[in-house]
Amino acid sequence: MAAEMSSYDAVVAGAGPGGSVAAFELARSGAHVALVDKARFPRDKACGDLVGPRGVGLLGELGIAPEGVVSLGDMAVIGPSGGRVILPAVPGLTYPGCAWALPRKVFDDVLYRAAMEAGAVAITARVAAVEVESGGDVGGGAAVVHLDDRGRLRAGALIGADGATSAVAGSVGMVRADRVQWGFAVRTYIDAEVELPVIVLFDEEPGVGFPGYGWLFPGPDGQANAGVGVGTGSDRRAGARATRYLDTFLAHLRRLGLLPADAVAGPRLGGWLKMGMLGTSPVSGPVLLVGDAAGLVNPLQGEGIAQAMLSGRAAASAVLGVGGGRDAGAVYGQWLRQHQSAYQGSTAALQGLLLGRPRMVSRLGRVLTWPPIGRSLAPAWALYWNDLVTGGPPGRARSLARVAGGAIRGATAASPSRRELGRALAPPRPGPGPGEGLRAIVRRHADPSA
Ligand SMILES: Cc1cc2nc3c(=O)[nH]c(=O)nc-3n(C[C@H](O)[C@H](O)[C@H](O)COP(=O)(O)OP(=O)(O)OC[C@H]3O[C@@H](n4cnc5c(N)ncnc54)[C@H](O)[C@@H]3O)c2cc1C
Repeated sequence: MAAEMSSYDAVVAGAGPGGSVAAFELARSGAHVALVDKARFPRDKACGDLVGPRGVGLLGELGIAPEGVVSLGDMAVIGPSGGRVILPAVPGLTYPGCAWALPRKVFDDVLYRAAMEAGAVAITARVAAVEVESGGDVGGGAAVVHLDDRGRLRAGALIGADGATSAVAGSVGMVRADRVQWGFAVRTYIDAEVELPVIVLFDEEPGVGFPGYGWLFPGPDGQANAGVGVGTGSDRRAGARATRYLDTFLAHLRRLGLLPADAVAGPRLGGWLKMGMLGTSPVSGPVLLVGDAAGLVNPLQGEGIAQAMLSGRAAASAVLGVGGGRDAGAVYGQWLRQHQSAYQGSTAALQGLLLGRPRMVSRLGRVLTWPPIGRSLAPAWALYWNDLVTGGPPGRARSLARVAGGAIRGATAASPSRRELGRALAPPRPGPGPGEGLRAIVRRHADPSA
């Protein structure tokens, strides 16, 4: 006997930062939304636990204020030869001058609860498969989500927020795994009071740079977060290098005097990062991918929480019909083109170039952290690699970062990855139906005569 089907205006698959923010936005606008996650909350998630300035700004706009965060400013970067520079944290025009540290077990639970309080329906089950039907309310068909407990959910829009190895994206055929730019990172917690967040660039052997970095970030209650991340390109087998290097890296931190000799590391947890939007079509009919599912992790430094929340909000707004008259997928695709693709595409191409050139990686790390050069470049570097140029503080650093960004975009314009991203994000042909959006549906719920 077929399992019963429940109907929603929208289903959000995955309750990380991207999914919870999307469900929060939909639910507080009156949409009937299901938030599905395979895990029971609170649940842990491998992360450095740093929410960047754009993420902090967005939480302020949403009125979500987690308790117990550690507010962080400047960040130190230590290079392969021991050179050290400080990347300053400066408030921009559209974001604050700080990041937050909070363990994901706590942070994600706060967002999840906010979505529930706004009215989202929590479902604990694994998304096993997705079917797309044509027609539907938001201009691109409807989606039927099959759960591993045999339940089925039908919705006019499905937001795929189920992380880097998204089952939604896989099931709908939105990913070309051989084109994805993967990263893998592993973290542990350590009893240590750490003052400044630190990123460490290092060589695997003299002159041969490691294609990633290690970090040591402060956390609440004297629990620091340390880890190693590596870029692997499309070859996921190379991800094991991050796990292999963690002990060596912790020993390196002790030698640098950044960790006490007797600091004990706790259990480790690793996870995949999907970067630069490569190999992924973020929109297919009623299915919109956000966050890691869409490959929105910054290819240069691995940040993804802010992009997940921003894209979650953008997808929810598109579904609600805020774009006015066009179908949700077209509106969301336009947001991705406007706010993500130029940076993601060009830095993904840059990362792809560096991955095959470990000697260049080593030299670059040495030059950028050589104080006479590093000190003058650090303010622009901080803006560029944290993708904080747009809406950044006016001045020399922003101008320099703009020039660097323009040069990198120009130099990578003809790269295969940029061309592929352009194709994946090309505006769709006019979709079926008027795409009136969920706002109209919500109005109908409120006033059935409308
Ligand atoms: C070790 C490490 C360190 C990192 N450090 C940082 C950092 O310091 N700062 C930063 O900004 N970013 C960091 N990132 C990246 C960041 O973790 C991600 O970009 C971010 O979590 C993306 O959020 P999301 O909502 O898209 O996906 P996720 O946070 O991955 O959430 C996906 C959710 O979907 C659920 N799910 C998965 N599959 C299914 C399924 N089939 N059915 C139902 N539910 C499912 C999962 O249980 C999970 O709750 C790090 C990543 C790693 C691996």
